[in-house]
Amino acid sequence: MCECRKIKSFFACPDDFNNLFSFNFDVVENFPKYFREDAPTDEVIPKFDYSITYYRCLECQQWWYFECSPTESPYPMLGIKLKAQEHSLSKAEVKAIKQFLIILAHEGFSAEECVHYGCSNLALKNIKICVSHFL
Ligand SMILES: [Zn+2]
Ligand SMILES: [Zn+2]
Repeated sequence: MCECRKIKSFFACPDDFNNLFSFNFDVVENFPKYFREDAPTDEVIPKFDYSITYYRCLECQQWWYFECSPTESPYPMLGIKLKAQEHSLSKAEVKAIKQFLIILAHEGFSAEECVHYGCSNLALKNIKICVSHFL
């Protein structure tokens, strides 16, 4: 059985999404609604592929935006629910969701500013750069 219904609107697989979550897996465990070990479904059309982002779950018919790993057997690293087949996401929408997940994964912000010259955004906790310079 797929678990698409368990996901509210989006998720990331932190083990696989290394560029976003290369550390601090304890924090990630605090947000099980957003960070999962596995994709909610394996039964999709088309088959998972790094170069494809729009999918449908064959079990529950949910439409998904998945970003898959560039590996020999691709798997979804990021998933965003779509309302319908023709629902397409802009780059800005996808980026906003990734930034939300990055902020969660770092437990928010530190009191210091980003180390990038001229950037006055707050740095994320435990790293010295802000979310805009992180992604
Ligand atoms: Zn499903
Ligand atoms: Zn910055």
